[in-house]
Amino acid sequence: MIPRDAKHTVTTAGELVINWHLTEACNYTCRYCYSKWHTGRVGKELFRNPAASAALINEIFRQFAPTPQNHNRLGLKWDSLRLSLAGGEPLLYGQDIVRIAEQANGIGFKVSIISNGSCLTPALMTELAPKLSVLGLSLDSANPETNREIGRADRRSHILHLNELTATIQHGRRVNPRLRLKINTVVNALNFTEDMTPLIRELSPDKWKILRMLPVVTTDLAIADFEFAQYLDRHAALNFLISAEDNSDMVESYIMIDPSGRFFQNSMNGGSYRYGAPILDAGAEASFRQINWHAEKFQARYTDDNRIVSL
Ligand code: SF4
Repeated sequence: MIPRDAKHTVTTAGELVINWHLTEACNYTCRYCYSKWHTGRVGKELFRNPAASAALINEIFRQFAPTPQNHNRLGLKWDSLRLSLAGGEPLLYGQDIVRIAEQANGIGFKVSIISNGSCLTPALMTELAPKLSVLGLSLDSANPETNREIGRADRRSHILHLNELTATIQHGRRVNPRLRLKINTVVNALNFTEDMTPLIRELSPDKWKILRMLPVVTTDLAIADFEFAQYLDRHAALNFLISAEDNSDMVESYIMIDPSGRFFQNSMNGGSYRYGAPILDAGAEASFRQINWHAEKFQARYTDDNRIVSL
């Protein structure tokens, strides 16, 4: 929860991350997909309106910039603020992402994206890489059949070509040598027996985040405790890169905004998200107080390894 009296509870984190899920739309159809929000009554995707999206990120920066007042309010100290642009698949709208990243950089945010990689062309990478501190890619498998079974294919049954993706990542690193790479893998009933070591070694990310499939929107492809443990054991040689999140680590520990501009939070009780009021109506502080967020859980993701910490 947000501490009411933060004097006794202030902890330290390097970077505070605000995750803005701009859209539900995606060219893939992963069976476990979490990107389903109830936006019917509160309107559509806010990012499509440049004035509204600029107002939203200004309001977010005002409430979450690393100032003493904001530190006291949240019971957490952080040095910098990062806006993580997520979806759905944000790069379906590549030029909007370039615009928002530019606006956010101008305000003082660091910016990252989390993408399935399918729309990341070298041309888009050239525009985007200088505006990003972190490129996040969601990759669940190196096996084409497994990717198809999970739903990681478009309507024409096209899957991601890992050779092309590797070349595009190398291009991004040339354009912005400070760009850090994060790979997210959701461990589920179709990939928990796989060894991802060769692919991870080839892509050489700064962090590999391994998430256990979270049964909030659906229980399809959920796995047992021992299956998640086996997956982690199999990749123990990469522990210097790995940040693993079991279901309990993921609940009420992220700061997330839905496509219509509301804070929301995942919960293991009730099988759905909880929402705050629209931020542009209520203000970020009031909207944030309407959802549960645990500064201690957020901080618990931080380790002594600074390279991993700041991703
Ligand atoms: S790539 Fe991400 S947003 Fe798209 S269907 Fe899969 S989980 Fe959902």
